[in-house]
Amino acid sequence: MSIQKYKITKIKKLGSNVKVFCFEPLEGKLPEYKPGHFTFLHLFNENGESIVKRAYSIASSPDMPYIELCIKMVNGELTGRLERIEVGGVVGIEQPGGHLTYDDQPKIALIAGGTGISPMMSILRYITYKQMKGEFVLFYSARTRADILYREELEELQKKNENITVVITLTREEWEGEKGRLCHAVIGKYIDDTKGFNWWICGPMEMIKTMKQCLSSLGVEAKNIKIEGWG
Ligand SMILES: Cc1cc2nc3c(=O)[nH]c(=O)nc-3n(C[C@H](O)[C@H](O)[C@H](O)COP(=O)(O)OP(=O)(O)OC[C@H]3O[C@@H](n4cnc5c(N)ncnc54)[C@H](O)[C@@H]3O)c2cc1C
Repeated sequence: MSIQKYKITKIKKLGSNVKVFCFEPLEGKLPEYKPGHFTFLHLFNENGESIVKRAYSIASSPDMPYIELCIKMVNGELTGRLERIEVGGVVGIEQPGGHLTYDDQPKIALIAGGTGISPMMSILRYITYKQMKGEFVLFYSARTRADILYREELEELQKKNENITVVITLTREEWEGEKGRLCHAVIGKYIDDTKGFNWWICGPMEMIKTMKQCLSSLGVEAKNIKIEGWG
């Protein structure tokens, strides 16, 4: 396993407890990766030795000139230390990999909860950059308005590619959009042909369990569902 050194070039707060970090390599090029890949982020001690590593889905698209990660700060082993690192700080990043990849499928439905939006941002940014034709639907579940990550950019992406539909549901606040947990009623409003789509689910384990059952009852075959969960 090789760890490449990166400099933090930007830190932006999203919502109450999430931060977006941008990283550029200290030397050499960005690694090759696909939308949907994750990497391991390493933090170093003063001797430059890795002391903690955790997996993070990449939120940037491979065409972007930096790697972006969207991280919920839970004051744990890694996030507690990352909180104290500033722009200019050096971290380690491994060659990205994983199975949640997007490979130019023309009809896709992405289901995200919380920071599970990270790989979906990579996929939607890529689709927009490539101006791909097809049907691309994002179902994004958040608790309150303040918890909707990347809201403005999601609106922009819809404007830039008319084939993208963004459906946000709030579970703990009244608003003008969809409400409550994602279920047949919401999915059925936006997708008639559930079996003709490829599905991605990413977010908390509890949400993944519910959505797997939901998709199964809608007739979606397991081979057409890609899943990644944490938290
Ligand atoms: C493939 C993969 C991709 C991932 N992508 C992302 C991503 O894009 N963004 C992201 O924020 N995380 C992501 N994670 C989770 C990440 O790897 C860490 O587990 C998380 O950042 C906590 O690490 P930590 O060392 O700070 O906390 P730890 O010291 O490992 O845990 C501290 C405490 O925090 C709790 N905790 C851990 N995660 C959460 C959470 N999300 N919400 C509430 N409590 C939690 C733990 O249960 C524990 O009690 C991903 C995990 C995997 C396996």
